[in-house]
Amino acid sequence: ENKDQKFVYDFTEGNKDLKDLLGGKGANLAEMTNLGLPVPPGFTITTEACKVYLESGSEPAALRDEVSAHLDALEQQMGKKLGQADNPLLVSVRSGAKFSMPGMMDTVLNIGLSDESVTGLATQAGDERFAWDSYRRLIQMFGKTVLGVDGELFEDALEEAKQAKGVTVDTDLEAGDLKKIVKHFKKIVSREAGRDFPQDPREQMDLAIKAVFDSWNTDRAKLYRRQERIPGDLGTAVNVCSMVFGNLGPDSGTGVAFTRDPASGHQGVYGDYLQNAQGEDVVAGIRNTVPLADLESIDKKSYDQLMTIMETLETHYKDLCDIEFTIERGQLWMLQTRVGKRTAGAAFRIATQLVDQGLIDEPEALQRVNGAQLAQLMFPRFDESAKTELLGRGIAASPGAAVGKAVFDSYTAVKWSRSGEKVILIRRETNPDDLDGMIAAEGILTSRGGKTSHAAVVARGMGKTCVCGAEELEVDTKRRRMTVNGTVIEEGDVVSIDGSTGKVYLGEVPVVPSPVVEYFEGRMHAGADDADELVQAVHRIMAYADRVRRLRVRANADNAEDALRARRFGAQGIGLCRTEHMFLGERREMVERLILADTDEERSAALEQLLPLQKKDFVELFEAMDGLPVTVRLLDPPLHEFLPDITELSVRVALAESRKDHNENDLRLLQAVHRLHEQNPMLGLRGVRLGLVIPGLFTMQVRAIAEAAAERKNAKGDPRPEIMIPLVGTVQELEIVREEADAVIAEVEAATGVDLKLTIGTMIELPRAALTAGQIAEAAQFFSFGTNDLTQTVWGFSRDDVEASFFTAYLEKGIFGVSPFETIDKDGVGSLVRSAVEAGRATRPDLKLGVCGEHGGDPESVHFFHEVGLDYVSCSPFRIPVARLEAGRAAA
Ligand code: PEP
Ligand code: MG
Repeated sequence: ENKDQKFVYDFTEGNKDLKDLLGGKGANLAEMTNLGLPVPPGFTITTEACKVYLESGSEPAALRDEVSAHLDALEQQMGKKLGQADNPLLVSVRSGAKFSMPGMMDTVLNIGLSDESVTGLATQAGDERFAWDSYRRLIQMFGKTVLGVDGELFEDALEEAKQAKGVTVDTDLEAGDLKKIVKHFKKIVSREAGRDFPQDPREQMDLAIKAVFDSWNTDRAKLYRRQERIPGDLGTAVNVCSMVFGNLGPDSGTGVAFTRDPASGHQGVYGDYLQNAQGEDVVAGIRNTVPLADLESIDKKSYDQLMTIMETLETHYKDLCDIEFTIERGQLWMLQTRVGKRTAGAAFRIATQLVDQGLIDEPEALQRVNGAQLAQLMFPRFDESAKTELLGRGIAASPGAAVGKAVFDSYTAVKWSRSGEKVILIRRETNPDDLDGMIAAEGILTSRGGKTSHAAVVARGMGKTCVCGAEELEVDTKRRRMTVNGTVIEEGDVVSIDGSTGKVYLGEVPVVPSPVVEYFEGRMHAGADDADELVQAVHRIMAYADRVRRLRVRANADNAEDALRARRFGAQGIGLCRTEHMFLGERREMVERLILADTDEERSAALEQLLPLQKKDFVELFEAMDGLPVTVRLLDPPLHEFLPDITELSVRVALAESRKDHNENDLRLLQAVHRLHEQNPMLGLRGVRLGLVIPGLFTMQVRAIAEAAAERKNAKGDPRPEIMIPLVGTVQELEIVREEADAVIAEVEAATGVDLKLTIGTMIELPRAALTAGQIAEAAQFFSFGTNDLTQTVWGFSRDDVEASFFTAYLEKGIFGVSPFETIDKDGVGSLVRSAVEAGRATRPDLKLGVCGEHGGDPESVHFFHEVGLDYVSCSPFRIPVARLEAGRAAA
C-alpha cells in the first residue's frame, strides 16, 4: 500500500480509459460527466482499494478519510447531508468491475434512510408512500446483500402483507401498510443478522462498500469469471452516487436503451421503459416494460433529450452503447453507459456500418469482431420449410437454434446435462442463481423480461440461444411444467427454440446450414442482390483480415473432399495430411498383413499392395490442392490401432479352440497383438520409430508421394508436396529417414525424368525436439509444431484421458482457466515453441514454420503464433475462416 496512492476519484476526475482503476461503470460515469451529460454527482472507490481489502482483510488505512472528504464535497454540492433528518441526501452504492459481470455483484440503493430521515424524505418529496417504500427497499437490499439475510424472508413478508390487504401489486400498498412492513423487516433483520438495522447513515455506507468488495468473491461471481475468462484478481470498484428516483409517480420512470439494435445492428430506437419504477425492476425483468419508443408520448421532452444524448454517445464512443437512465419528475438522468454487448451477427454488421459512417477504419473494424463470433455464425439454423408445431413466440434475445428436453429448474438442467441429455432451461425469469443451469442448457427460454433481462444479457454473453419474454407461456416451476394456450409441456418433453426469430416449437425441428457457411462454400455470393446483410458484412471483414494478415492459413485434411472444402474456405494449403486415415476400412487388412509379415517377401508383398492405393490418394489430394503446398505426414500411430481389440480377439480364439475350429490367422494375429501391446502406446512404437524399425514402410509412402507428384507434373499439374516425419526426438532419427527418403526420391526422379523439388521436414512435438531444434533444423527444411503431443508431453497429461478424469477439478480450482489442449499454454508449451523457432531459424534462416495441432484454429493461440513469427497455422477445414479472421486481427 503506497502512501500517496489515491483511492477515491470524483466523477469529474476520471475518464473512460481508466477502467482498470475505476471499473467500467465508474470510468464511463466519469466520461459522461465530463461530456456534460446529466449524471447524478458521485465518486468512485478504486479497484486498488478493493485489492488491498481482499489481500489484507481490511480497507486501506487512508480510505476512510478520503471517502469522508469526497462525501463532504458531495454534500456541499447537493446542499444536503447524508441521512440528514429533515432533508436527507441518499446515495446508491454499486459495484463496477473492469469487465461487466451482469447481476453478479452487489448494489444497495437508498442509503441514508433511517427512522428519522424517512420523514424528511416524505416531506422533501411530498410523498409519504414513496418515502416508506424507499425505506423498506433499503432494509430489504441491505439485509440481503450486506447482512446476509435470506432474501425470501422479506419477499414472503411482503407477499403476506399484500394478501392480508387483498391486493396483488406493490403499488397498491399505502404508506400505512409500508410502515408496518418496515417494522416487520427490521424485526427480520434483528432476528436473522443478530444485530439491528444500522440507523447511522455513514455506517450504512461503510458496510455497503465492504459488502461490494466481498461480493467479488461470491461463488457465482467466481463461476461467471471462469466462464468468461476474467482474471480473479482484478477486484471491483465501488460507485457511490447520489440517488435519483424513478418511482416518484407517473412522471418518473426508469429504462434501458441501445443506440442500435443489439441483435441486428440496425440504427433506431431500441430499449425498454418502465414508468414509476426503480432501476433494478427493469434489469430483473420483474414487471413488463413498454418499448422505448412509447416514451415519446409519455414524456416528449425527456425522450428528445435522450435521443440527442444517445447520438452524442455513439459518436463519442464510436460504437453501440447501452444506457441505463432514470427520469425523476420529468428530469432525465444518466445512470450508466458502456459499449454494449451484441449478438455475433450484429457485431459484424455494426463494424461495417461504422466504417461506412466514417467513424472507424478497417483495422479498427477488425478489432470489433472476433473468431468466436464468426464460429457462432457458422452454426446451423432451423429449417424454415420443415413442418413445425409453433407453440408461441417471445423476444429473439440471443441467436441460434437449440433443441432439447424441457427442464424447469437449474438443478435438473445440470443433472440431466451431466448424464448426456440436451436440455432447454425454461424459467419465468432467470436470476444469477440460475447461472450453472444456463451453462448446462442448450438454450434458455423465459416467459418474462425484455432484451435487457438477466436471461437475455447473460445468454448473449455466453453465446447461448435464448428466447425471453414469451408471455403466452405459463411456467409452473413447482409442478415442473408449462402451459401454452392449452397445450401442456411436461418436464422431459422436447422443445425447439429459435433465438434469431423468438419462435418456440413443440418437438424437434430439423436444422439447416447458416448463410455464412453457404457463403464460404460458394453457394451464396456476397455481391448477389439477395445476399443478406450479414453475408455482405462477413465478406467485407474477411477481406480486411486477408489484406492485413501475415500468417498463412492451411488445413488439416486427409482426403480430396476435405481439401476442396478447405480450399473454398480459404485454405492456402494442407498443413497436415494424416496418412493413417488412409489405412482404415478395407485397407486395414493389408496393414495387418504388413504387421504379421515374418519374411522380407511377405512384407514387400504387403507394401507393394499398399503402394498404388497410397499413390492414388496422393494424386487426388495434389490435384485438389494444385498449386498449393500439401504436407503429408508419414505414418504416426502405434500399430496396434490397426489390429483387432485384444479382448475381442482373445475371446474369438478361445471360442474357436473350444469348437476345435483352428484358425491359423487369428492365432498369429493374437500373437502379434500381444507382441505389440504397450503400457503407454502414445510413448511407444509410433511416429519416426515405426519408420526406423519396419523396413520399407516409410520408403513405400515416400515413393507413393514422389510418384504421385511426378504423375501430376506430367499431367501439367503443379503439385507441391512436403514430406513430414512425426515424433522426432533427435536429429539422428531424422537423418536416417531422410537418407532413405532422398534415395527413393532420386530413384523416382531418374525413372520419370521429372524434377520433383520435394522438401522434407519434421514435426516438433516432443520437448527434446524443441530443446534441440537448432540441431534438428540441420536435417529439416521445415518444422510443424504438433502442439497436441507437445502439450501432452510437456505437461505429462494424457490427451485422451485428462478431460474425463481431473480437468474439471483443475478448472474449478482455477489451476488453469481453459484446457491447455484448447488454448496454447503460453508460459510452458508456448515458451518451448518460441525458443525452437529462434534456434531453428538460427541454423536455417529460410526454415518454414507452422503449427498443425488443434491450437491452430483457436483464436487466442493464433495471436500467439503470429507473435512468435510462425509462417502459417493449420486447422480443421471448418475453423479456417476463424483462423483467417484472427490472423488478420493479430496483424491489424
Ligand atoms: C499433434 O500432435 O499436435 C499433431 C498434430 O499430431 P496428432 O494430433 O495426429 O498426434
Ligand atoms: Mg502428434
